[in-house]
Amino acid sequence: MDPRAKNEFTVQGISASPGIAYGQIFVYIQSDVEVPGYDVDGAKRIEEVARFDRALVTTRQQISKIKSEVEKNIGPEEAMIFDAHLMVLEDQALIGETIREFEATGRNIETCFNKVSTRYIQAFAEIDDAYLRERAGDIRDVAQRVLQNLLGQAENSLSRLADKRVVVATDISPSDSASIDRSAALALVTDSGSKTSHAVIVARSMNVPAVVGVRDLTKRVKSGDWAIVDGYEGVVILNPAESTLFRYGKIQERKKTFESRLMEASRQPAVTLDGVAVTLMANIEKVEEAKQVKDFSAEGVGLYRTEYLFLNSSRIPTEQEQFLAYKAVAEAVAPQPVIIRTLDLGGDKPMAGNEDLFPKEDNPFMGFRAIRFCLEHTDIFKDQLRAILKASAHGRVQLMYPMISGAAELARANAVLAECMAELRSRHQPFDEKLAIGAMIEIPSAAVTADLLAKNCAFFSVGTNDLIQYLLAIDRVNDRIAHLYEPTHPAVIRTLKQIVDEAHKARIPAGVCGEMAGDPIFTPLLLGLGFDSLSMAPAWVPSVKYLVRAMTMADARALAAEALTMSSPKEIYAKCDSFYRTRVKME
Ligand code: PEP
Ligand code: MG
Repeated sequence: MDPRAKNEFTVQGISASPGIAYGQIFVYIQSDVEVPGYDVDGAKRIEEVARFDRALVTTRQQISKIKSEVEKNIGPEEAMIFDAHLMVLEDQALIGETIREFEATGRNIETCFNKVSTRYIQAFAEIDDAYLRERAGDIRDVAQRVLQNLLGQAENSLSRLADKRVVVATDISPSDSASIDRSAALALVTDSGSKTSHAVIVARSMNVPAVVGVRDLTKRVKSGDWAIVDGYEGVVILNPAESTLFRYGKIQERKKTFESRLMEASRQPAVTLDGVAVTLMANIEKVEEAKQVKDFSAEGVGLYRTEYLFLNSSRIPTEQEQFLAYKAVAEAVAPQPVIIRTLDLGGDKPMAGNEDLFPKEDNPFMGFRAIRFCLEHTDIFKDQLRAILKASAHGRVQLMYPMISGAAELARANAVLAECMAELRSRHQPFDEKLAIGAMIEIPSAAVTADLLAKNCAFFSVGTNDLIQYLLAIDRVNDRIAHLYEPTHPAVIRTLKQIVDEAHKARIPAGVCGEMAGDPIFTPLLLGLGFDSLSMAPAWVPSVKYLVRAMTMADARALAAEALTMSSPKEIYAKCDSFYRTRVKME
């Protein structure tokens, strides 16, 4: 028996960046800088403040340098993290309070800055808002850097890894991950962190596997130990035995070959083995993601969630700002179409800092969100509609409304749109007079009255995320009942069938843009039910396309027909799963 086998142990964390790596560990403990305390002579006080200024300038230069490196090597979006850091350095309250503390106590500037910044960090960490709580991390990161500069200490050891290493750390701050020696980091593993932490975003962009939230791992391992990091499953195997290494080596090889096969398939047309062409589109949330539409060979944007433009800003974007964003997406994706969805704020997406517009609700998913909000705040709605209309002169824009509950609501939305069109005409502002207007079908009442809606719109797009939650009465963000959220529930399948049939009776196309559309297990079911297009996160297009090219539409229709006769969600799921597995093999 391999002697290492008895030392092997496996820990489970959260998978944060895909891939498999094997190597020796480097344990990185992020410790706070030790701050010496002493009194400063009256005569030296001016020089002490000047020393503080110099440390701030040096810190600013260092962060700006990291920012431009990240921008060049990774991308502008990831580099934006460092804007938040630069803003901390501009924070007059933080800087001013440090000087006041110094004037009042006469203690050295490190002590004063450490005291004030610690107070700041604590205040942010206690705020009941995830975004603001994360800012505490930014302030801590910058404060440590300022202190290092004041004390003349060198940068952290991550920038000088001796050899290729699996980095195991308590946490990795954005500036840590930016200064990591890229050529030497094989994988990142952290004790703390969630899928959305800054460090994860950077790790993904570095293209190394990452596992986060492995509690106390830094206490259980030491530098030099060997580990396999499985970023797909969120697993870390310490001191792996030969047999484990062999197994992982095989998995790694298979995953690599399979991924390259997927990317190859994604450049081919989405046509089934029996010659039926299917439209696969991308869901995007930000202007910058429009580039991925072409990278992953999607045929346009099936859902542009415009609310992110609002959620990423502290105020409502102006009509002009919105126009520029929509135009940029339309131009980037042309000649393919872009379906711009009007605002879906509220529900799980309230706009922070605007409590007057989005008062707290007991039941937000059934509350004041999306089209309901827009029809009450027509000033905000009209700004958006005019911006979308104007963008329609710059590409193939289509428009759709979220959370439509029935034909009367659709008519009200269209009446507001008609007013905007009239305004633009009177201003001789060009827009696409034939703009296609669609409705999202994501509320059961819309599904039941799909025949009435189909007469008054150019297409349907089914939002299965919401449709399933309302149909099955399962809150889509409640972990406690997540296991009951079943896309293969017969009620869901029958409803989907009715929607697509009503669309086709009225000779309009119907697509799906909820998460279900991006899971290849459900691809044959949805296409077999008759849907014309599927829209998903860009990165999923290759997997779905691969399956489309490996199946026949005749088999998909037979699967859907059989699913419609079945009563157990689990059995229907098993059928879909086996359909998938018999056609897609990793070997
Ligand atoms: C949906 O509900 O399926 C959908 C696509 O919209 P969102 O997830 O933005 O609510
Ligand atoms: Mg929805």
